[in-house]
Amino acid sequence: MSETILVTGGAGYIGSHTVRMLASQGRKIVVLDNLVYGHELAIIDPQVELVVGEVGDAELVRELFKKHSFDAVVHFAAYTYVGESVTDPLKYYQNNTAAPIVLLQVMQEFGCKSFVFSSTCATYGVPEVVPITEANPQNPINPYGRSKLMVEWILQDCGHAWGLRYACLRYFNASGCSPDGRIGEDHNPETHLIPRVMMAVTGEIEKVEVFGTDYDTPDGTCIRDYIHVEDLADAHGRALDHLMKGGNPVKCNLGTGVGVSVKEIIAAVEEVTGKTVPVTFGPRRPGDPGMLVADPTHAKEVLGWVAQRKDIRDMVRSAWAWMTSERQGRYPENTRGR
Ligand code: UDP
Repeated sequence: MSETILVTGGAGYIGSHTVRMLASQGRKIVVLDNLVYGHELAIIDPQVELVVGEVGDAELVRELFKKHSFDAVVHFAAYTYVGESVTDPLKYYQNNTAAPIVLLQVMQEFGCKSFVFSSTCATYGVPEVVPITEANPQNPINPYGRSKLMVEWILQDCGHAWGLRYACLRYFNASGCSPDGRIGEDHNPETHLIPRVMMAVTGEIEKVEVFGTDYDTPDGTCIRDYIHVEDLADAHGRALDHLMKGGNPVKCNLGTGVGVSVKEIIAAVEEVTGKTVPVTFGPRRPGDPGMLVADPTHAKEVLGWVAQRKDIRDMVRSAWAWMTSERQGRYPENTRGR
């Protein structure tokens, strides 16, 4: 395979796992990342070129296209804190919606017509039916979800207007890390459930707070579909293959189809670590739907993709390997509030 791919946000969590996988498949990868939330050290393949800069910097992006004649773009670069998107919506619309327009303009200019987009189940808002198929209405309930949905619409319009081929990959809850523990989830601040439960085990935080125990679910806590980051990476490789072969635009969910509650996550962490998790029970977090679980059938139909890891303990075990090894030494700048 001799394709040259631009990966924006390739130094972030899902991006870095995908870059590692795509590079291992023989693709030439150039990463464009502003390193606001990404980590230079998360790009471990020496063949991968890292360019530090903004997706919305037309001159820079144009220079990169001139130099590399990219065959396709995989676009991860985005802000992802839902709460922040509510208090600072323009930051999200600027970075998540306006910046990719610049990227698409340069793609159009250079005749690059394949685009893989990190979309999200947050574009569905509170689903009418669970498990969620792609036919569910997309009514996002926060600016983050809207900032992503707008890009889906833009891609559709570019598809009609100038033949852009795109894959909108709607992730459910990304989790886990590479089985060798070399790269993993590394947000700062960390708001996600699995790392926070582990931080309560390691003592980085005193307790993990369970947001709401009165949901209409069997144990009263929220249910999510946790998808292993390496399964997500695999889906990107397949989406690229599909588009490079001239395949039609794709919009699909990436999840396992298995729902896991907050209490079940805590139990899985206790099982894997052999430690008791200090827990406190609090009120619901505003904007949290009770249950988000994918119907991943469509991804199988169009990309031949099926999540290989469906047992939550696989996600937890790999996340724990990362939490207790490389992460501490590799990213010393990440103090995680200690
Ligand atoms: N959650 C929790 N305590 C935390 C963080 C998350 O109870 O400290 C819950 C949250 O309400 C949601 C689930 O865990 O139901 C997953 O949250 P996360 O932030 O990891 O992902 P999200 O589903 O919001 O994208």
